Amino acid sequence: MMFKKIDHIAIAVNNIEKSAKLFEKILNVAASKTEIVKSEKVKTKFFHLSDSKIELIEGTEQNSTVAKFVKKKGEGIHHIAIEVDDIQKEIKRLKKQGFNTIKNTVSKGANGKLISFLFPKDTKGVLIELCQKTN
Ligand code: ZN
Repeated sequence: MMFKKIDHIAIAVNNIEKSAKLFEKILNVAASKTEIVKSEKVKTKFFHLSDSKIELIEGTEQNSTVAKFVKKKGEGIHHIAIEVDDIQKEIKRLKKQGFNTIKNTVSKGANGKLISFLFPKDTKGVLIELCQKTN
């Protein structure tokens, strides 16, 4: 199985600290420390559930795609991340089938993972992140 599981579902928010307090109440789990992911211009926090996570993301700049997303659509589900064994191999396989990634190269995401996003226009409007653990 190359697509292993849903690693996390990400929710785009206006204020990550305030939203983290809300989700701590809902999930009854403490949020991780805030991490800044420069490649995506976001701040991120994770809630670790038993086998998956909820991620909160807030754009760090007005021109970040997440800030634009929230401005246009409001707060809400932003992407679904699927863990893969070999991200390069999966991208190659998907490109052969006509899918495109937003960036040409794999980026470094939160927790040192390798990440890549598929074009949502190819995937029924759902932004799909592929992620691979590096440790
Ligand atoms: Zn994510």
